[in-house]
Amino acid sequence: MKKIISILLIMTMAFALLTGCSTESKTEQPAENNANQAPVAEESKDEDNTLVMYTNAEFPPFEYFEGENIVGVDVDIANEIAKDLGKELVVEHIDFSSIIPAVLNDKADFGAAGMTITAERQEQVDFSISYVESIQHIIYKKDAEVKTMEDLKGKKIGVQLGTTGDLAISDAVNLEDGDLYNSGAEVKTYKNALEASQDLLAGRLDAVVIDKLPAEEIVNNNEDLGTVVFGDISEAYGICVKKGNEELLNSINTTLQRLLDEGKIEEFIANHSK
Ligand code: GLN
Repeated sequence: MKKIISILLIMTMAFALLTGCSTESKTEQPAENNANQAPVAEESKDEDNTLVMYTNAEFPPFEYFEGENIVGVDVDIANEIAKDLGKELVVEHIDFSSIIPAVLNDKADFGAAGMTITAERQEQVDFSISYVESIQHIIYKKDAEVKTMEDLKGKKIGVQLGTTGDLAISDAVNLEDGDLYNSGAEVKTYKNALEASQDLLAGRLDAVVIDKLPAEEIVNNNEDLGTVVFGDISEAYGICVKKGNEELLNSINTTLQRLLDEGKIEEFIANHSK
């Protein structure tokens, strides 16, 4: 009897195994179905397949609008990063001061906006290797030249909110040991340097402080304005990602290093400078 029971047991197990197998092969079976579902699968993959860059497209030659499209040096770089990753680049325009918050709350995979690597920002985000060196410039009106820190005393100075130019001037004006402290100098913040330079032309400002290439861009397009180096602090631009996103940061660095080695970034700058 025991023998019969064990034979039955073995048979049942064998049957279970067999059905198990056949069930498995059934799930594998819809290979064809899978193929049919491919577009759906690809659609959801596509969503993952985007690489989202946040920028402030009011900073030529690094990023600016050409019609409805955002173009510029950073966009060219980002396209290369996306290409190396096999992803599709999406570029979003936002105020400069909102770029890091967008990276922090995962709206953006990375921020690229001619952004200077600073110790303060490094507390919030991780930066790539540096890909451009810059320095602050003063934009002045040719008929009322304001070219040095000394000249800025008691003057109205326009800056772009949240930028290194803003920080430098605000510190000089507000800190007790600042060069412009108690001089009557006033800082006015703008969304972008173009708006600030309109106010400069209209006589509502005496000077605008902004990064070198955007300053040159503005001046090259306006014969009433001139620009000159301000201070002696060299700045390095980096692309920022959420802290700890090493995988993306490594890919960004690999692409940046390749572009630097190939002299491409210089080329991008030349292409976008007018
Ligand atoms: N390099 C400056 C900064 O990081 C300005 C950048 C910008 O205005 N897009 O603050």
